[in-house]
Amino acid sequence: MRIAVIGGGVVGSLIARELARYDAEILLFDREVEVGFGVTKANSGIIHAGFHDEPGTLRARFCVLGNALYPELAEELEFSFRRTGALVLAFDAEEEETLKRLWEQGEANGVPGLALLSREEVLAKEPEVNPAVRAGLFAPTVGITAPWEVAQAAAENAQANGAEFHLGEEVFGIEVKNGRVQALRTQKGLYFVDAVVNAAGLFADRISEMAGVPFPTLIPRRGEYILLGEPAGNLVHSVLFPTPSPVSKGILVIPTVDGGLLLGPTAEDLPPEAKEATETTSHGLSQVLRGAGKLVPKLPLNQALKTFAGLRPEPENGDFVVGPTKVRGFYQAGGMRSPGLTAAPAIAQFLAHEVIAPDLALKKKTAFNPKRARIPRAAELSEEEWEKLIREDLRWGRIVCFCNTVTEAEVVEAIRRGARTLDGVKFRTRAGFGRCQGSFCMAKIMAILARELGLGPERITLRGPGSELIFGKVRP
Ligand SMILES: Cc1cc2nc3c(=O)[nH]c(=O)nc-3n(C[C@H](O)[C@H](O)[C@H](O)COP(=O)(O)OP(=O)(O)OC[C@H]3O[C@@H](n4cnc5c(N)ncnc54)[C@H](O)[C@@H]3O)c2cc1C
Repeated sequence: MRIAVIGGGVVGSLIARELARYDAEILLFDREVEVGFGVTKANSGIIHAGFHDEPGTLRARFCVLGNALYPELAEELEFSFRRTGALVLAFDAEEEETLKRLWEQGEANGVPGLALLSREEVLAKEPEVNPAVRAGLFAPTVGITAPWEVAQAAAENAQANGAEFHLGEEVFGIEVKNGRVQALRTQKGLYFVDAVVNAAGLFADRISEMAGVPFPTLIPRRGEYILLGEPAGNLVHSVLFPTPSPVSKGILVIPTVDGGLLLGPTAEDLPPEAKEATETTSHGLSQVLRGAGKLVPKLPLNQALKTFAGLRPEPENGDFVVGPTKVRGFYQAGGMRSPGLTAAPAIAQFLAHEVIAPDLALKKKTAFNPKRARIPRAAELSEEEWEKLIREDLRWGRIVCFCNTVTEAEVVEAIRRGARTLDGVKFRTRAGFGRCQGSFCMAKIMAILARELGLGPERITLRGPGSELIFGKVRP
């Protein structure tokens, strides 16, 4: 059996990993040169509890299940994850009523540990919260992660268990004969396959069209952010939400796994064809400042590092599209709006074990290794551990990124594991993620990428073809 997964975001990478438990040939295709470069790259990184989603929706079901899977998954795959808990804050009587509705919704969805808190209890937990707060809803199971790490870790583990990743290959067509999937086409040729899983994020509607299966229109809903650097994250302990609006969870204050603080996102619907409109806007960023400032008035804005935006693939009908279709061998994992990151592990398990394996009569492999070790970080080693590594390999002693203490050895290991771009190195090692945002280390990392990949520096890109950093030919 040969199964193709289209999309190497968090959803497709986790699906490939689950399918790699079976005796089947697993091929993953992504048009980007690295995994996690789509929607997965720019979002809030929250592992939601599940009280925001209406009971009976796939979002509610997979969010609660996915949240429960995260601690073990983070341990197996060694990606960053921390349960911080969250508070939804109410500032007037109407918002207090919303908290009660969210509590009831959460109870109906099976969210554990929800509690309604008084003003005093909120301020005791989070002293920096706006003192005008009247009440809060506490959700202890909310967590935070680095979403691209989840995709990278799952991809590495899937590959270690035999899955084949075709990165930089765009799927242009899917061949269906007599109601069955036969093959898919990329710029490199035709691949005969028994099944296709559509995990193409913002492009899941186009992939579905290729198979002749109807799909709700996907509206790119832009979310803009401001990221504050370390130590701004110390200001609050939990994720802070306002009460939600009908279209979004609102503008939040989110501690990050790196000790930073993320403010945002906005929620702006764009035309369906604007699938790459990730620029920030002045009106969006001022909305972020107003929204976050209402929750925490004294934000250390002088620690701002960068602004960015992500696009949610919002399906017209509001819910995930997951499961089999009228075309045999064509499966959906699309419409992955929020909380798609949270839901991804549960969706991957459901599709692989409850839908695809029984459908294709797949047998489990005897040897599947669920573990993946992350790249050691010099910044987190004891002096003795670091010295030992330097004695074994001098590259551990050459610091490339001074903001985050990242060594040449870490950059080389990131490249060995699949980094092909500056962003790829950054997302695997944190080199370029610090206060200088790469101003001091970019040239050094480009030189290492060029050396390790055997390319001229003019062929090194920020995030793939079209984002070259040097124009013209560089003399050797
Ligand atoms: C602003 C914002 C905030 C969010 N906050 C949260 C949050 O806090 N918590 C949460 O749980 N969720 C959140 N989400 C949702 C979450 O980010 C997404 O649900 C999740 O990242 C979707 O992952 P994916 O793998 O489906 O999509 P993607 O990461 O986009 O992966 C799809 C991949 O398919 C590839 N592809 C597309 N077309 C083709 C083709 N023709 N051929 C080959 N490859 C193709 C793309 O290159 C891409 O890499 C947020 C989203 C946004 C935008």
